[in-house]
Amino acid sequence: MVVGAGFAGLYALHKFRAQGWSVRVFEAAPEVGGTWYFNRYPGARCDVESLDYCYSFSDDLQQEWTWTEKYATQAEILDYIKWVADKLDLRAGVTFNTRVVSAVLDEVALRWTVTTDSGEVVCARFVVMATGPLSSPLTPDIAGLDTFAGEVYHTADWPQGGVDFTGKRVGVIGTGSSGIQSIPIIAEQADQLVVFQRTPNYSVPAGNRPLSADEVAHAKATYAERRRMSWRSGGGSPHVAHPKLTMEATPEERREAFEKRWQLGGVLFSKTFADQMIDLDANEEARKFYEEKVRAVIDDPGVADLLIPNDHPIGTKRICTDTNYFQTFNRPNVRLVSVRETPIETVDATGINTSREHVDLDAIVLATGFDALTGTLAKIDIVGRGGQRLVDDWAEGPRTYLGLGVDGFPNLFLVSGPGAPAVLANMVLHAEAHINWIAEAIAHLDAHDLVGIEATPEAVDNWIAECNRRAEATLFPRANSWYMGANVPGKPRVFMLFIGGFGVYLDICAEVAGAGYKGFSLI
Ligand code: FAD
Ligand code: NAP
Repeated sequence: MVVGAGFAGLYALHKFRAQGWSVRVFEAAPEVGGTWYFNRYPGARCDVESLDYCYSFSDDLQQEWTWTEKYATQAEILDYIKWVADKLDLRAGVTFNTRVVSAVLDEVALRWTVTTDSGEVVCARFVVMATGPLSSPLTPDIAGLDTFAGEVYHTADWPQGGVDFTGKRVGVIGTGSSGIQSIPIIAEQADQLVVFQRTPNYSVPAGNRPLSADEVAHAKATYAERRRMSWRSGGGSPHVAHPKLTMEATPEERREAFEKRWQLGGVLFSKTFADQMIDLDANEEARKFYEEKVRAVIDDPGVADLLIPNDHPIGTKRICTDTNYFQTFNRPNVRLVSVRETPIETVDATGINTSREHVDLDAIVLATGFDALTGTLAKIDIVGRGGQRLVDDWAEGPRTYLGLGVDGFPNLFLVSGPGAPAVLANMVLHAEAHINWIAEAIAHLDAHDLVGIEATPEAVDNWIAECNRRAEATLFPRANSWYMGANVPGKPRVFMLFIGGFGVYLDICAEVAGAGYKGFSLI
């Protein structure tokens, strides 16, 4: 049983079918695509290059599909996923418009009873939660939001037919990656745009452009090497940091390296030097370069002061990847309101009230993020050994071994969730890696006449300690990020990911499997 038909669930279906197993997939949406089905706000694109942000398991797919831009639009990525689903005949294996509401373990039979919102009950030996790390959108608890007489949209639940903001007064709340991608496009359409920013974010221009026929041909001819480098890398892309540490490089070398990364575009700026996310002085060099670049494109120095973060080291929240974000604030129809200085107090029928003013609006866009990594799993009533509920087990923070298994929940696998690199890596390769590992584990059980696999409590404790130890050795815990659960009131503050790098993580997973699934009980 697979829950979810995004990149991960679809690959799971394909892979498990190829193993000769019977597989069912339940998907809440009416279509495949997951993230790329729901997040269709204007300007939505990947921030990992298109050539890398796609399946690697089939060279036929790699050779047949042609990406048109360095960073593909949401529409192109969704087209790609639909194309793969059709090509591999995956749709027939997915039950759409069906949400899994519970998964309950029968300890004696070692079977999971999975129940859906349509009332279907399915018995499965293995359950794979391919439910997505960013699949539970957050709506802020602002008094009166439901009394607003205009339109309200969430970036992660955007209307299918799109929205025309022509002639409208629009307010956007939120300046994370979703806000930063959508604000420049909304500004071009709207009559007036007011951006309500609580915390400024670091954003590096994407440098997006069409891919030339030569570039595509070269990439296709050298895909094997591109992927080899990605599998070994820190984040699942074929790029390596500068060979020197930040302060070992001369000022000229440093500048050149930062400039090169700036031109590469986006999130990878945080990996210019290998020590940038570990050493505050190194980080400060990157931050200073960043500030200079951003100040240069904003006309009003007062607005620039508000847009440049000063509360967290650069890269400790995911660096956003934008096209003309900062330049947008030079437009006469765009205004920035710092809700840190003048908080949003209420919404009424006609607009947003901050502590200083009433802003008249026709539409409000919520770019307010997600209950990341744990939110979607928490909505499913997952009950393991002794009636233990996963939500209770995770009350102090998620507990996993390798991000794949949980003690007390045998034969339940998590994909791209807490305890793995997940959102710190190229998530398409990450999904492939998880599904491959799970397929091998199940095949191992079958080959040895075993019926189950379950993380031991010691392995889970040790893995959490390992993840914490690695996180504490970096600058990441210094940010109030969603990696830390900081964006959800009441959520435990723990760094939820494995920060040791994608390649290192894959080595650990391979080593565990190679050692007869060390840290797991085989039943
Ligand atoms: P999802 O795509 O989230 O799919 C999970 C599916 O499970 C959904 O379709 C959901 O409806 C379904 N589901 C959940 N619960 C249930 C249930 N109870 N019953 C039935 N179905 C259920 N990552 C990158 O690496 N690079 C990027 O450039 C990038 N850009 C992103 C841009 C945006 C706007 C967002 C929000 C995320 C981005 N990410 C990016 C992260 C992205 O989530 C992953 O890359 C990837 O798409 C996740 O795939 P998935 O299959 O694991 O999960
Ligand atoms: P996010 O990074 O969590 O940003 C949410 C924004 O909403 C923040 O600016 C937050 O401010 C603000 N906010 C939330 N509640 C608010 C309130 N009550 N009042 C005022 N402001 C409020 O969410 P996201 O932008 O959707 O991005 C989430 C992740 O998805 C990204 O980090 C990335 O991994 C992925 N993503 C990737 C891309 C891409 O470029 N490919 C695009 C979109 C998303 P505070 O910071 O003050 O809380």
